[in-house]
Amino acid sequence: MNDLFRQGERHIWRPFTQAKTALPAIAIRSAQGAKLYSADGREFLDMISSWWVNLHGHAHPAIANAIARQANLLEHALFADFSHEPAIRLASRIANELSGDLQRIFYSDNGSTAVEVALKIAYQYWKNQGNEKPIFIAFEGGYHGDTFGAMAAGAASGFFDSWRDLLFSVEFIPFPYTWEGDHSIAEREQSCLQKWDELATRYSHRICAAIVEPLVQGAAGMRMCRPEFLQIFAQRVRASQALLIFDEVMTGFGRTGSLFALKKAGVKPDILCLSKGLTGGFLPLAMTVCSDFIYEQFLGNTIQTAFLHGHSYTANPLGCAAALASLDLLMTPECSNRIRTIETIHRARLASLIDKLASNNRGFHRPRVTGTIAAWEIAGHDNSYGSLNSIQWKSFFLNRGIFLRPMGNVFYFMPPYCISEDELNLAWDVVEEFLFQE
Ligand SMILES: *Cc1c(COP(=O)(O)O)cnc(C)c1O
Repeated sequence: MNDLFRQGERHIWRPFTQAKTALPAIAIRSAQGAKLYSADGREFLDMISSWWVNLHGHAHPAIANAIARQANLLEHALFADFSHEPAIRLASRIANELSGDLQRIFYSDNGSTAVEVALKIAYQYWKNQGNEKPIFIAFEGGYHGDTFGAMAAGAASGFFDSWRDLLFSVEFIPFPYTWEGDHSIAEREQSCLQKWDELATRYSHRICAAIVEPLVQGAAGMRMCRPEFLQIFAQRVRASQALLIFDEVMTGFGRTGSLFALKKAGVKPDILCLSKGLTGGFLPLAMTVCSDFIYEQFLGNTIQTAFLHGHSYTANPLGCAAALASLDLLMTPECSNRIRTIETIHRARLASLIDKLASNNRGFHRPRVTGTIAAWEIAGHDNSYGSLNSIQWKSFFLNRGIFLRPMGNVFYFMPPYCISEDELNLAWDVVEEFLFQE
């Protein structure tokens, strides 16, 4: 494996990486539960769920077996002409969980395509009714993926400056993120809503949709907002006759402590984007869930009003089979308990850390927790993605068997739900060691 690795590296171009300054990639041979095992005999506790996709642990036999069974029965059938059991069962299950009007599911492959589909459907929904609504609204720091529409909606994230001139224009409002002990959040929320009101007046009846990552902005650095804000924001969007899109690509499937963030927020969007945890981290699959009233505007006697969009692997049966097996695991009381335990440990360890740091906080600030996600910042450091300090911090943890990826000066934990209490406490011990090092 090591020879193969060295030769093979000649041909690899890694995602979101400056190859010149990055740490060399670690060859991983296998993984089990919350642990990754390297070819050279080391093990790493996966504290960010393999880029936020893994729910029940690596190589989980129930999901692996479901994929194998499906692969031996039907691996793919093109979804424009054919249907199949895994796709229908999965769509029905998700629709049942969501209830209400969110009942129509369009499959695609990944988070970015789920968002592209949402933006395109929203735009055509108005167009099919003879309305031109060219304005999209998104949040500063919001991240929705790397394809062009998703980049436009995430342009204020700072990741896409190389292509800025090519993006369609989107209006941005500040995201009122908050943390433990934050006393000015109500005012900041007001100023965000004020910005919405200004835009709603300027673009009266021309706002197509607003897109938001509910409760937690992921790539912006795990920035968390209050459910109350989302409720008022949703009312404003409705009052402006615009559609509300929730991008739950990261927050879906238990991450925030309820099955979907929309439940915890108490808000029903018109369109919902899901991916990442959908298959438990095994295969790329996504869905854009639409309200029935949207779907109805695409019915007509010509192809023109149809949604002319699709991908080769739309509703891939293996992905759907993995998702069904993952959902079975997710819906067990045992899994709900684990999710609650993770949040309890996050909160207890943060509280004890804040106690210990009482006289000298060592730059530690803005701690926050939503469900299984805990985050904090280190003040006085470069906050840009891929910064030198974030790379050094990452090696400190890797050397102690913990895998995490600080984003600029933001640290976060987002473990797979299978993580044991001992493993999670061990990761927090290393955080203490890191903060108290001389
Ligand atoms: C990761 C992410 C995406 C993009 O998903 P990909 O599968 O990486 O294309 C979109 N939205 C949010 C909120 C994400 O976290």
